[in-house]
Parts: sequence; structure tokens; C-alpha cells
Amino acid sequence: MTISAHNKDNFSSIREVIFLFVKMYNWMKEVIMVRELIGQCETCGKNIYCENGFFDGVHEDGSSLCNSCAEELKEK
Ligand SMILES: [Zn+2]
Repeated sequence: MTISAHNKDNFSSIREVIFLFVKMYNWMKEVIMVRELIGQCETCGKNIYCENGFFDGVHEDGSSLCNSCAEELKEK
């Protein structure tokens, strides 16, 4: 076995490990992700979640709006 071939082998195994890490990371993200139902959008009735501490919507005048409705409201 030449040195270059040996290095190539190492490289491909490192790539495999990184690939596995990415796969595991994506899987863990799905499992660990904290998704808490906060309420429903006042306009379209879509469920609004709090994901990892991020509120997936907008509070306005005591009512909750989803991001897409809040954006539409802003544009008007
Ligand atoms: Zn909405």
C-alpha cells in the first residue's frame, strides 16, 4: 500500500464519520427540539409554536399572529 492510497482511505473514513455526525445531528434536532403550542393565529387559525425558545409568531395588541399573517399585516 502506498502512502497516498493510505491517506485516501483515511480521508474517506473521515468523510463517513462526518456524514454520520450530520445524520445524528439532524436526528437529534428532531427529537430534542422543544416545540410548545402557544396558541392559534387570530387571522388564519394556524397553530403557533414556541420552538427552542423562539416564538414562531407575533404578539400584537394582546392577540397572536403567525409570521405570514403578521408580514401581510405589515405590508398593508
Ligand atoms: Zn396566520
